[in-house]
Amino acid sequence: MRKESSPKRTVYTDAMERFHRAADLIGMHPRVRLELEEPDFEHIFYVTIDLRDRLVPLDKEDEAKFKDLPASGVKAGEALEPLANGNFVLHRRALLSADITIRDGVIRIPNKGLFRFVKGEPRKFKAYRVQHNMARGPYKGGVRYHREVSLDLFKTLAAEMTWKTAIMEIPFGGAKGGIRIDPFAYSREEIEHLTLRYMYKLQNLVGPFRDIPAPDVNTNPEIMAMMLRQYTDMQHDRHAARGVVTGKDVRIGGSEGRLKATGQGVFYCIEEWAKEKGFALSGARVLVQGFGNVGSAAAEILHAVGAKVVAVNDVQATVANDAGLDVPALIAWVHGRKENLRRTVEGFPGGKAVSKKDFWAIPADILIPAALGNEITGNVAEQLKVKLVAEGANGPTDDEGDRVLGARGIDVIPDIIANAGGVTVSYYEWLQNQRLERWSEQDVLGRLERAMKVNYAICRDIAEDRTRRTALYDSRPYAVGRKVNMRTAAMVLALKRIEAHYLLEGFSQ
Ligand code: NAD
Repeated sequence: MRKESSPKRTVYTDAMERFHRAADLIGMHPRVRLELEEPDFEHIFYVTIDLRDRLVPLDKEDEAKFKDLPASGVKAGEALEPLANGNFVLHRRALLSADITIRDGVIRIPNKGLFRFVKGEPRKFKAYRVQHNMARGPYKGGVRYHREVSLDLFKTLAAEMTWKTAIMEIPFGGAKGGIRIDPFAYSREEIEHLTLRYMYKLQNLVGPFRDIPAPDVNTNPEIMAMMLRQYTDMQHDRHAARGVVTGKDVRIGGSEGRLKATGQGVFYCIEEWAKEKGFALSGARVLVQGFGNVGSAAAEILHAVGAKVVAVNDVQATVANDAGLDVPALIAWVHGRKENLRRTVEGFPGGKAVSKKDFWAIPADILIPAALGNEITGNVAEQLKVKLVAEGANGPTDDEGDRVLGARGIDVIPDIIANAGGVTVSYYEWLQNQRLERWSEQDVLGRLERAMKVNYAICRDIAEDRTRRTALYDSRPYAVGRKVNMRTAAMVLALKRIEAHYLLEGFSQ
């Protein structure tokens, strides 16, 4: 029954092996298995934009040739937009009243040095939207802007959204997409044009009852606002379409609690784990990898209950403080300073710099990976000195890492439940949009906490091979007759809920 996996291993074949193992365990209906093992649709397309003129730092070896070049009177503030990769976008309007000297395309900017002028030109970018499954409801999933994306990655992330929405019992399916780009090399205006163009091409594929994008790595409420504007532009009933994207700013139909929802959900799972183990979170030592939306929110919430965040690693650097980092100060350092273009923890004065290699080996109780996939390899898992890995990121642990964590008795709260708080509050946002309502933060968090904890408890029951009916939930339909690990338990819960749709509704021909 099980399909031979393709000889070339990819992130997707690995994900499908996990799927097939869980499908075997529940004796999944063979046709449902075929429906789920490939996405419904894989859209690959291109978006083009006009780039602005740029100033690119001159190569060191060319500097001598221009040592007598006089400085031009360009005021950096209004004419030059600094990019995180060291280039500047040059706004021509600011040159109109400036005293300029350009020789062989090279210009000297006061206090900044020598730059080569690179004329703006059109550029194309590869874009994706994978719609994995909609048996339970409209496709739902984030939009990622990153240099290292691929069809296989988006297929994997889209399938994980299908599992996640089922685990949280919200009436959505799974999707994911994005653009292959290093967003730190482009200006805000260029990213806006790119986003509008992306949505322009997606407009017939998405909609509040068809496919609902949300933020993921390097996208945010501002980008969601651009997508909303492009989608609803010229529509007569445009307010009825506000739910086409979630993760919006609360002032334009976003939900209270959405910004921190993924980190909050990670926290609720950790709380349940700690309760079961009789472990006190106050004073617990925590490592966080990734200090963007998910990592910073999880760190802030844990810090507020008295846990000590002893080290944070991001793409640029690692900062550590054995007594616990001042998390609000770190958030202000990373997200509150305009000049911190890469939004990195690098240089934070309240901690010392350590290497990424040393980060993994820091003794702690809890590790929250909240960056990208496949970070916890077998080698990393061997070095960890923690009791729990709570997966804020999608797919942070590879198969070998998972095996090592299991063998070493390190508990894992798998991504498909741990980070499902984001999509759950996205559903609340969508509901508020449909009903033209606005819920308080307390309402949102109360619902989120119940939903996370009930579904976490069902996963624990499946893992322990317990069946019970309580006032809040019924885990009797889900156990598989033996104990399984939490990752498998979560997959079992997802697959049984999805399969029910096919078995009860049947297949349209
Ligand atoms: P983000 O763009 O806000 O932040 C990403 C963080 O990861 C940054 O701090 C970045 O420096 C760091 N990072 C990137 N590459 C790294 C590397 N190689 N090593 C160490 N750090 C690295 O993204 P986010 O929205 O916080 O998403 C983080 C993870 O959580 C992703 O896996 C995403 O798919 C997952 N996730 C996000 C949401 C959400 O609501 N935003 C929901 C569910 C899952």
